[in-house]
Amino acid sequence: MSTKSPNPADLEPGAMPTGVELLHDPVLNKGTAFTDEERDAFSLRGLLPPHVHSIKEQVMRVMENFRRKPTPLEQYINITALQARNETLFYRAVLDYLEEMMPIIYTPTVGEACQRYGHIFNRPRGLFITAKDRGRIVDVLRNWPRRDVRVIVVTDGERILGLGDLGADGMGIPVGKLSLYTACGGVHPNQCLPITLDVGTENEELLADPLYIGLKEHRLRGAAYSDLVDEFVDAVQEVYPHALIQLEDFANNNAFWILEKYRDRICTFDDDIQGTGAVALAGLLAAPRITGGSIADQTVLFLGAGEAGIGIGDMVAAAMREAGLSEADAKRRCWFFDSRGLVVKSRTDLVAHKRPYAHEHAPAELFLDAIETLRPTAIIGVSGQPRTFTQDVLEAMARINDRPIVFALSNPTSKSECTAEEAYNWTQGRAVFASGSPFDPVNFGDQTFVPGQGNNAYIFPGVGLGVVVSGARLITDEMFSEAAKALADQVTAADLRLGRLYPPLSNIREVSAHIAASVAEVAWRCDLATIEQPEDVLSYVKSQMYQPVYRSYV
Ligand code: NAD
Repeated sequence: MSTKSPNPADLEPGAMPTGVELLHDPVLNKGTAFTDEERDAFSLRGLLPPHVHSIKEQVMRVMENFRRKPTPLEQYINITALQARNETLFYRAVLDYLEEMMPIIYTPTVGEACQRYGHIFNRPRGLFITAKDRGRIVDVLRNWPRRDVRVIVVTDGERILGLGDLGADGMGIPVGKLSLYTACGGVHPNQCLPITLDVGTENEELLADPLYIGLKEHRLRGAAYSDLVDEFVDAVQEVYPHALIQLEDFANNNAFWILEKYRDRICTFDDDIQGTGAVALAGLLAAPRITGGSIADQTVLFLGAGEAGIGIGDMVAAAMREAGLSEADAKRRCWFFDSRGLVVKSRTDLVAHKRPYAHEHAPAELFLDAIETLRPTAIIGVSGQPRTFTQDVLEAMARINDRPIVFALSNPTSKSECTAEEAYNWTQGRAVFASGSPFDPVNFGDQTFVPGQGNNAYIFPGVGLGVVVSGARLITDEMFSEAAKALADQVTAADLRLGRLYPPLSNIREVSAHIAASVAEVAWRCDLATIEQPEDVLSYVKSQMYQPVYRSYV
């Protein structure tokens, strides 16, 4: 099993297309970079302007056009159109300009793109499986033109970022995540399959919108919904038995049970729970290098007790146990505050995933009161509620801690619990800050802070790559813990001096390779791998990564 980029012509059975058909194949197309020999061999002569450009020159043109677009959404439309024309060039441009491209192909702009998906829709990308496909999901999966699928990202569109139910318009998320699998993790684009399970929507605005692309029905619930998910999972095992399934942006009333139901049977994980858990844990492992102490010294108060919050809590508690605390002590250092106040034992309204963190304590209705009584070293915002880390909250954190840890992780930027500027200003520049969506550097006094982005893109591409290169049968919590450690290990003293808890995105390929190696090593150690272990795991991983370069077809 390999993600190495073979000559695309070898990937699928059948002859190379020629002429216009070749120019319209996004995997094989090179546009003006087809050489004279290739133009002759594949009936392209005359179909292209005569000058043969290098990929470097083509990227210059891409960036000129991209930068001329007046808004991020227009840039998204521009760059995804390139992806539909010429994938190699798209990935070359994305990789060469990752810091500029990431906020466009992923959060925050992808959120806006999903909100407008039906209106900016140009051509389909990914596979739509609907409530009407019961009994024939295998056939729908077989309609996908590629056979060697290794990574599927699937959503049902019910909780897209912090934007709520966007139904089938949520397709932008699996498409965007898989672009990052390739750009950041080096998984071959032919091995990636974005899927939306369109089970309807409760979004009345979309239901009334003539340009909405999904089923105009209310959501499937109960047994009808779980039967559809069951059939989908079984169909994937039949058609793509080597594919890992990444669950993405399901609402939390479905996300937890789906993960629990399948995680010990098939190769799957939920990025909102486990990916977020790992990326936030990596930040919390790096933070004590600034604040002093260790992970076991932290008291963490979460604003929000959903998929992200509980996912992070579980990973943090596991890391604290590994650092020597008992199970009970580790859990007691993680506190949750949800829409109804502090999560405490006396509450009778708690769903199952919150109960392990419901401690004996007096109730608190205000987040500020919870801070004053619990005196956390870290607050983590995963509520989807903007501006909830108020001046009072941040000043209290700065009073209690010399270097308060503040993670405002809600996405997109408009939902962030506070801005980077607020975090630094209201703590006199003492906050150790990370956010979910990117923020510009902030000047405070004579220091410039470069806030780190606790972006899942640091974790899932590397985890996926590690699973693919080892042929792992299952994805375990230990793989995510190792991924978090590998990520934290990539943070340098220079990063920390800038207040940055994550390595720069420009290092993402190196970071992903280390994460993949750690994950694959767990697979080999725990007898979960189906591929023989190479001698030098890191070099092997690197050798398997897709590179966006043109192959010669002659
Ligand atoms: P979710 O719906 O599962 O959970 C949201 C939680 O917030 C619930 O527990 C809810 O009770 C709580 N909440 C709502 N209003 C609140 C309020 N006013 N005060 C306190 N708590 C409140 O959603 P999720 O999947 O956990 O995602 C939450 C947010 O985290 C989203 O904005 C998402 O974009 C973001 N997120 C960020 C990252 C990242 O940056 N790495 C990863 C995953 C999720």
